[in-house]
Amino acid sequence: MCFTSLIFFEVMILIIKDLISNLAILVTTLFLYTQVTSDSPLKTSSSVSRKIIAGLLAGVLSNVLMQYSMDFGETIVDLRHVPLIVATYYGGTLPGIITMFLIITGRFMIGVNPSSLAALIMIILITCATVLSNLMNVRRSIKISTALTASNIIFTVIISFLIRDLNIMLVLAPSFWILSYTAGFTSFYIIEYVRKNQKVLDNYKSEATTDALTGLNNVRKFDETFNQVSSQAKQKNERLSLLFIDIDHFKTVNDTYGHKEGDQVLIQLGEILKNTVRSFDVVSRNGGEEFTVILLDCPTERAEQISESIRENVEIHPFSLTTGETIHVTVSIGLACYRETTESTIELISDADAALYEAKKGGRNRVCIA
Ligand code: GH3
Ligand code: MG
Ligand code: MG
Repeated sequence: MCFTSLIFFEVMILIIKDLISNLAILVTTLFLYTQVTSDSPLKTSSSVSRKIIAGLLAGVLSNVLMQYSMDFGETIVDLRHVPLIVATYYGGTLPGIITMFLIITGRFMIGVNPSSLAALIMIILITCATVLSNLMNVRRSIKISTALTASNIIFTVIISFLIRDLNIMLVLAPSFWILSYTAGFTSFYIIEYVRKNQKVLDNYKSEATTDALTGLNNVRKFDETFNQVSSQAKQKNERLSLLFIDIDHFKTVNDTYGHKEGDQVLIQLGEILKNTVRSFDVVSRNGGEEFTVILLDCPTERAEQISESIRENVEIHPFSLTTGETIHVTVSIGLACYRETTESTIELISDADAALYEAKKGGRNRVCIA
C-alpha cells in the first residue's frame, strides 16, 4: 500500500513537472509574441497573410510544446491545443486550421503509430470544437472556457483508450485538466494584459503631443517638429516658412458669448487651418488662441499666398456657436521664412512673432512679413 502510494506520488510529480515546463514555454512565447506584434495585433479582421503567419507561428509553438511532452510509451501528452485555441480565438478559423495542420505534421514526424493516429483524431476534434465555440455569440470567457473544456473532454476520452493503467490515468486526467485550464486562461490573460498596456501607452503618447480641444499638435509637438524640420531644411538647403496666427479681439468673444462658445471658435479655426494649408504642413495650437503653421519647403511668396488664404477663409467663415447663432472673427498673421526674411532657423520663431505684433499694431486682420 505504502509502495503504491509512493509510485503514485512520483508519477504525479513527473506529470506536473512536465506540464509546468510546457506552461512556462507557452506563457513566455505568447508574451514575447504579443509584445513584438503590438503595433498590429492579430484580429479576425487582419489580412489573410497576417493570419497565415499567426497560424504558422502557433503551429511552431505547438510543436515546441510537443518536444517537451510527457512520454507514456508511444503516447505523448502536452499543451499543444492551447496555441490552437489562442490563434483561433484572435484570428478566426484560418489560423486555427493552419495550426492544426502543423500539429498533425509535427506529431507524425515524432512517430507513426496508433498513438499518433489517435492524436490526429484528437486534434481534428479539438479544432472543430474550438472553431464552433469561437462562433458562439457569447462572452469571451465563455468561449474560452467552452473550447478548453471540450479539449479536456476530448483528450480524456481518447487518452483513456491509449493509457490502460488506471493509476496513471487517475493522476494524469485531473493534472491535465488543471494545467490545461491554467495554461489557457493564463495565455489569454497575458495577451490581454500586454494589449491593454500597449493601448494605454499609445493613448498617453498621443495625449502628450495633441491639443485636447482641437486635435492639433500641442506646443510640445510643435517644438519637436520645428527642431526636426529646421535641421532638415538646413541639410537639404530648403526654404522653411513659419506662420504665427492669433485671433483678433478674442477676449471680446469670450466676454460676449462665454468661454464655451469661444472654444467652438477655436475648434473651427483649427479645421479651417488644416483645410487651407497643404497636407504635409504642420498645424499646431501653441496655446490659448495662438496657432502656428510650419510650411515645409516653402518660399516667402508661396507662404504669403497661403497666409492670405487663411486670413480670407477665416474672415468669411460663419463660426457656429452651440446656441445656433453664427459669428465672425478675424486673425492676424506673422510670417517669417528661413533663408529669405531670416538667416537662421533659431530666429525664425522670434521673427514670426515680431511680424505678428506688427500685424496687430497695423490694425489686425492682416498678414505681415518679417
Ligand atoms: P488681440 O487682438 O490683441 O489678440 O486681442 P485678444 O483679445 O485676442 O488678446 P488677449 O491676449 O488679450 O486675449 C486672449 C484671450 O484668449 C484671453 C483668454 O480668455 C482667451 N483664451 C485663452 N485660451 C482660451 C481657451 O482655451 N478657450 C477660450 N474660450 N478662450 C481662451
Ligand atoms: Mg494672443
Ligand atoms: Mg488674440
